[in-house]
Amino acid sequence: MHFFMIQTIGILGGGQLGRMMAIAARTMGYNIVVLDPTPNCPCAAVADKQIVANFDDVEGAKELLSSCDVITYEFENVNLAVAKALEPKLPQGSELLKITQNRILEKELIRSAGLQTVNYTAITNRKELQDFANNYQANSRKIVIKTAQGGYDGKGQFVIENIDDLKAFVQNGFNEHIHYVAEDFISFEKEVSVIVCRNARGEVSVFPVVENIHKNQILFVSIIPARVSEVVIATAQKAALQLSNHLNLIGTLAVEMFVCNNDIVINELAPRPHNSGHFSLNACATSQFEQHIRAVCSLPLSDNRLLSPCVMINVLGQDQQLMNHDYIGKNKLHLYGKKEAKHDRKMGHINVLGETLEECLIEADRLLDV
Ligand code: ADP
Ligand code: MG
Repeated sequence: MHFFMIQTIGILGGGQLGRMMAIAARTMGYNIVVLDPTPNCPCAAVADKQIVANFDDVEGAKELLSSCDVITYEFENVNLAVAKALEPKLPQGSELLKITQNRILEKELIRSAGLQTVNYTAITNRKELQDFANNYQANSRKIVIKTAQGGYDGKGQFVIENIDDLKAFVQNGFNEHIHYVAEDFISFEKEVSVIVCRNARGEVSVFPVVENIHKNQILFVSIIPARVSEVVIATAQKAALQLSNHLNLIGTLAVEMFVCNNDIVINELAPRPHNSGHFSLNACATSQFEQHIRAVCSLPLSDNRLLSPCVMINVLGQDQQLMNHDYIGKNKLHLYGKKEAKHDRKMGHINVLGETLEECLIEADRLLDV
């Protein structure tokens, strides 16, 4: 229990997630200090102060530590030495960071919580690669090899359709200094995600199940509520709860899942607010960002019920014309304040609201068609 008053929240990372956390926190009355290496990062505009430092700079981290009462992060690839240095004021701790930084540890954790992952093989050295290749000869199938660390938006992934692809990976793709997981490539019916927040008192808040559609492995649109059976909704929310309790989660966990045969398989985890949760800014009584701030500040969690169906459209650098549309009043625009638009860079998003999901889908199609 914290009996002191939290006045200032420190955020490690000043991209759009840090910015939206800061907006929620400021609305509640907190001050914000953000640490990010890029001057005038997206979060800086809504923060009281930015510490310009690299993410592995322990001195910068100490300055953050001394300038705020509690600290959170917007990304999972936090340097573990920095996380350790911040730990006295980091209620989320560093253990979950360590796990979610590594797909092998992450899959082990998911299974230890009693949940399913795809079939996978860890490849951490040349011998394991050779063993995997030998087995593959006898059981060739479509697989995806992912770097264990550092991948996002499909980066660091190699899709293998046959033995020739695998040979090419062994010869040209494999780097013996890094670890990989080889996963069976599954033909899922849908991808969904569930965001769950939990505070130190063990209060939990699960968000509605989101249906996600990716384009070039980057989230393209999210549809809420997900168009899946009641059984899948219940199973997906239960899985997120199970993980959060298993982890003694403090903060936010986003759980990405595949839907197969009226059941779910867990794909990956993110220990933070998530792109697929942006609908909650307008469609829920409390957003994922406010709930996250509440959780890390040890406040009671708030009612997060769904108030409206929603289609969230991500706006990437090449799609900025989407933001010049003839909006109907129910479309909510969120800009991330990035100086320069680059291909595939996330520039903002639009939450399309409506009386019915059908209405949201029609309006989203209209926006995307032009
Ligand atoms: P990232 O960290 O890049 O988001 P993911 O593991 O989520 O990595 O992979 C990105 C996307 O690739 C997923 O959202 C899914 O569409 C597809 N994908 C990943 N793993 C598999 C798999 N084992 N089978 C089928 N599709 C997959
Ligand atoms: Mg993913």
